[in-house]
Amino acid sequence: MRIVVLAGGIGGSRFLLGVRAVAGGSAEPVTAIINTADDVTLHGLRICPDLDSVMYTLGAGIDPERGWGRAKETWTVRDELAAYGAEPTWFGLGDRDIATHLIRTRMLNAGYPLSAVTDALAERWRPGVRVLPMTDDRVETHVVVADDDNGTNRRAMHFQEWWIRHRAELPAEKFVPTGAEDAAPAPGVVEAIASADLVLIAPSNPVVSIGTILSVGGIRTALAQTSAPVVGISPIIGGAAVRGMAERCLPVVGAEVSAAGVARLYGARRGGGLLDGWLVDETDAGASAEGIEVRAVPLWMHDVDATAAMVRAAIKLAQEVRGA
Ligand code: GDP
Ligand code: CA
Repeated sequence: MRIVVLAGGIGGSRFLLGVRAVAGGSAEPVTAIINTADDVTLHGLRICPDLDSVMYTLGAGIDPERGWGRAKETWTVRDELAAYGAEPTWFGLGDRDIATHLIRTRMLNAGYPLSAVTDALAERWRPGVRVLPMTDDRVETHVVVADDDNGTNRRAMHFQEWWIRHRAELPAEKFVPTGAEDAAPAPGVVEAIASADLVLIAPSNPVVSIGTILSVGGIRTALAQTSAPVVGISPIIGGAAVRGMAERCLPVVGAEVSAAGVARLYGARRGGGLLDGWLVDETDAGASAEGIEVRAVPLWMHDVDATAAMVRAAIKLAQEVRGA
């Protein structure tokens, strides 16, 4: 079975561990299409947080406690930069992690597209799934915030500055995926979706991970046209994001912070939206969304076994919607 997964960083990579456990043995590769709109250039280094989370997690190089960055990390370079007073200081760049960014930046500067760089890095990490950036073009989520107390001035900042430096606490007016309109899907993305047997939407941030992937026009079109069922997994359980601050993003786009709210944001494929099926946690068993088949199963990714059970439930639901 050819499975394609749309995913962001931490939620996406944990989910992919389960997908790999279920499908990893099969001859057909799993393709993961990863958000790149969080990417940022700091200290001259090109950083791709979601691609790195996926690569490190699947390659067993992630720090398990923090959930991002490298295990056994040290912070000498960060401390030295701070001693120089070099801004920004709010982004955690570990020494081991910096090696990844140095190689990526060097290859990008030499003219290689991000997808080729990602392949090269994956030779070391052997993630066991095909990892594709959503695009080789530059797309960056910018956040528009009020710049004064009476709300008359506006300021846009990079998503990472809003998310990490301001901990998503500055009231956001909107998210703008700059560059998305003109961005082309990375090589292999449209082909993977077109020939998929199943498309899974990981329990990732619906706005700034999945939403930005969908903002690349060619990807949205490919999803609308594929004959494969599309099944999503809710990142919201009991009215709150399981880990992280996704609940800060949903109201900005007018969506309710609930499992059903995310399903409605994505929309039913029959109505021009994304989803055929939607998995919610057992605590949200009453959730419904028009035109979408909803099933309730445990959605806590405590470990790989629990996550694999979610994936099997998604496969079962896909077979049911296809049969319907
Ligand atoms: P980011 O790019 O690192 O922010 O990560 P993602 O966008 O891939 O995932 C973030 C989302 O993962 C958050 O909205 C969480 O609600 C969701 N998430 C994290 N852990 C779990 C879990 O165990 N179960 C479910 N259902 N969602 C989770
Ligand atoms: Ca992210």
